[in-house]
Amino acid sequence: MSSAADPAPRAPLADALQVTEEQWRERLTPEEFAVLRQAGTERPNVGEYTDTTTAGEYHCRACDALLFTSAEKFPSHCGWPSFFDPADSDAVVLREDVSLGMRRVEVLCANCHSHLGHVFEGEGYPTPTDQRYCINSISLRLTPKD
Ligand SMILES: [Zn+2]
Repeated sequence: MSSAADPAPRAPLADALQVTEEQWRERLTPEEFAVLRQAGTERPNVGEYTDTTTAGEYHCRACDALLFTSAEKFPSHCGWPSFFDPADSDAVVLREDVSLGMRRVEVLCANCHSHLGHVFEGEGYPTPTDQRYCINSISLRLTPKD
């Protein structure tokens, strides 16, 4: 079932790594820019996808690349959408983040290197990977399955 209100899937932005910060600022809202391009974090429990169970695909809000699917989303009750695995291992890239006096692993979109969130391991969630990709809703756009 689809309606005119459903966001249509769009092809991922080509050459996304060539987009300048000034161009990202024009493409994104100030709130999206602050998270995606400046590694901000949205407040817990306010994101539009925190508790979403709709079947579908989660694409990068910046470049439309496929990042996660509803099949890997799980209720972590941490305040942000959580996934136990990306849609494809090549969809995201990880890098160490030592900001805020913590050692964390940052999750970036592989296609455009926008900030998505962080990944945590070994927390004991009953998922196949024991990983929690803790992702900002504002970094994602859900395309519901028909
Ligand atoms: Zn992207």
